[in-house]
Amino acid sequence: MASQEGQKFLDSVHRMYDDAVAYLDLPPGLAERIKSCATLIHFRLPIRVNNDVRFFDAYRAQHSQHRKPLKGGIRFSPLVHSDEVVALATLMTFKCALVNVPFGGAKGGVRVDPRIESVDVLERVTRRFAAELCWKNALGPGFDVPAPDMGTSAREMAWIADTYMTLNPHDVQALATVTGKPVAQGGIRGREEATGRGAQYGIREFFREQADVEAAGLEGDLQGKRVIVQGLGNVGYHLTSFLHAEDGCRIIGIIERDGGLWNERGLDVASVKQYLDEHGGVAGYDSKQYVHDGADLLTRPCDVLIPAAMENQITTTNVDRIQARVIAEAANGPTTARASARLGERGIAVIPDLYLNAGGVTVSYFEWSKNLAHIRFGRMSRRMEEAHWTMMMHSVEELTGMHFSARDWKSMARGASEIDLVRSGLDDTMREAFQEIREARKTRNIPDLRTAALAVAIEKVANTYRQLGVWP
Ligand code: GLU
Repeated sequence: MASQEGQKFLDSVHRMYDDAVAYLDLPPGLAERIKSCATLIHFRLPIRVNNDVRFFDAYRAQHSQHRKPLKGGIRFSPLVHSDEVVALATLMTFKCALVNVPFGGAKGGVRVDPRIESVDVLERVTRRFAAELCWKNALGPGFDVPAPDMGTSAREMAWIADTYMTLNPHDVQALATVTGKPVAQGGIRGREEATGRGAQYGIREFFREQADVEAAGLEGDLQGKRVIVQGLGNVGYHLTSFLHAEDGCRIIGIIERDGGLWNERGLDVASVKQYLDEHGGVAGYDSKQYVHDGADLLTRPCDVLIPAAMENQITTTNVDRIQARVIAEAANGPTTARASARLGERGIAVIPDLYLNAGGVTVSYFEWSKNLAHIRFGRMSRRMEEAHWTMMMHSVEELTGMHFSARDWKSMARGASEIDLVRSGLDDTMREAFQEIREARKTRNIPDLRTAALAVAIEKVANTYRQLGVWP
C-alpha cells in the first residue's frame, strides 16, 4: 500500500515536471538531468530494544547537487517509502530554486511511527541515522543539511546536531549541519512557525491580485473567508491560527486522522490543538461538531481548502466533488497531477506546494547563514536603529508640539530583532516569488500557477547548470 502510494506520488511529480518543461526550451539531456534523482541512500538501522534488535528502514534522497548544500527535511512515518522520499526531494530542488534559496534538494525518511515508539527508541533511531549519514560523508554543513518534516521537530534536530558534533569535534561550522534546531541550541527565532507563516504570506499575496481572486469566483481580501484545513500539525496549526487572528478568516472545518470537526460559525483552533495534543485525535472533542468521516469535509463548500497533511489527498476520486474555490497546498504533494489539471478545468485556483510551503526552507536558509556567521541577526544594528528612531521621534515631537503615546514609543522606537528580520525576509521572499510566477504565467502563456512555478524553478536550475559550465 505504502509503496503504491509512493510510486503514484513520484509519477505525479514527474508528470507535473514534464508539463512545465513543455513550456521551456531545454535540451532533452538537460531536462532529464534536472528531473532525475542523483543519489538515494538506504540504511537498515539496527536498534537494540529490550534485549532484541529491531530494524528501521531509513532513506536519504539527494535529488540535485547543482547547488550545495543539499537541503530538505527528515520525515518519521510508518508509510515512508523510497519513491515517496525521492518525490519529496525532487520537490525540494524546485522549491529552493523558486524562492531563491541557494541549495540543492534532498529529503530523508525513516519508517517509524513516532506516535507509538518511546522517546528513547526515537532518539536512538535519530542518532543512528545521523551517524550512518556521517560515515557515508553524506551529512554536513557544506554538503547536506536536514531539517524537520512530518513526525520530527526541533528535538530530533538537536539529536542530529549533537551526533554530528560528537563525530566531528573540530568542525567549527558544526551547528550549521541541521536546521530547525531549538533556539537555545543554535536555532533561529521563527523557524517553528515558518512554514505556516510563509503560507499565510503566500495566500495574502494571492489575494492581492484581484483578477486571480475573481477568476476563482471570489472577491475582496481574506476577511471573512471560510477555511477548511486538513491536518492540524505544525504547519496547519500555525497557518490557521494566523489566518484567523490576523486576517479575519473563519476556520469552519478541521480534518484529522480520526475524523473531523465542523462549525459554520468558526472553530476555536487553539482549543482543538490543545485537545489533539492531549488525546492524539479529535474524536470526543465536541460531539456536536464531530464528523466521523473526516475525508468528507474535503468536499464541503468553503472559500479556501488547505491540505496541510499528506501527499495524494485530492485525487481523481474526489476532485469533482471539491467545492472550495482556492486550494492552498501547505502540504507537499497533496494534489495528484491529474486532479490538479481537473481543478484547473473547473476554475478552482491552486496555490502550489513548491511555492506555498517554501517558508520552512527559507527560514532554514536564514538559520544556516546565522550559524555560519556565528552571530545573531540584528546584533550589530538593533541599538543603533533604536537610537535613530528615538531621535527622530523626539524631533517630530519638538517640531509639532504633539506627543507620541507610550504605545507608539514602544512600537516605533525600536530596532529590528531577530524575529522581525526573519518575518520580513520571509514576507519579501514569498512576495517576490509570486511575482515571478505571475510574470512567467503571462509571458509564457501558462494556464495554472503550479506549472508556472515549476517552469520558473526549472529554468533557474538550468541556468545554474549553464553558469557552472556543465551544460552549453
Ligand atoms: N521539511 C520542510 C519542507 O518540506 C523544510 C525543509 C528544510 O527546511 O530544509 O520544505
